[in-house]
Amino acid sequence: MPETLIVNEIFHSIQGESTYAGLPCVFVRLTGCRLRCAWCDTAYAFDEGVAMSLDEIIFKVRAHGFPLVEITGGEPLLQPNVLPLLTRLCNLGLTVLLETSGTEDIANVDPRVIKIMDLKSPSSGESAQNRCANLRHLTAKDEIKFVLADRADYDWAKHQLAEHDLGNRCAILFSPVWGKLPLKTLAEWILADHLTVRLQTQRQKHIWGPDTRGV
Ligand code: SF4
Repeated sequence: MPETLIVNEIFHSIQGESTYAGLPCVFVRLTGCRLRCAWCDTAYAFDEGVAMSLDEIIFKVRAHGFPLVEITGGEPLLQPNVLPLLTRLCNLGLTVLLETSGTEDIANVDPRVIKIMDLKSPSSGESAQNRCANLRHLTAKDEIKFVLADRADYDWAKHQLAEHDLGNRCAILFSPVWGKLPLKTLAEWILADHLTVRLQTQRQKHIWGPDTRGV
């Protein structure tokens, strides 16, 4: 019986977020998430998907012909077979990104994988789900992403930075909720506080439009 995963979509686009933003990238979006963030923009990945073997997924990823691949969701770590997929993609010499909500255990992810982990802010409604134990598994090549909807979220994120000394752990991304918090406002707050964090926007939405899927 081949190892399989439930896959929502595989496509290539310009990486919109993280320190890899702007680079061509192949995306594998896995199905399923147990959270329901208030501002989720991929609810279609909660249950739409088809079973594919790891061989099929890898064949499709390679067919797109780019050296950067991101496994995303939904929440990819809900499906145990994502772990061998990540390892096999690394073995091919690809640069492998894993985007995770931060609520599932990341301890067994192949150390070559670059983890981009959310810390869910209060406005998401899911901040109680943050798994603080994950922080000790992050290394300098990994990234922590805060998606912020308002000043209360921003102040909360600042507190997390100080409490866990996150700035000395890995790259920190501050991203405004699309259509809720103006980029300029967040930029002004970061500058006023002299925070060493990376302001990011969802570049894919600027390029393709906010509601376009599979790009
Ligand atoms: S973790 Fe991601 S996919 Fe799941 S509800 Fe939150 S934003 Fe949506």
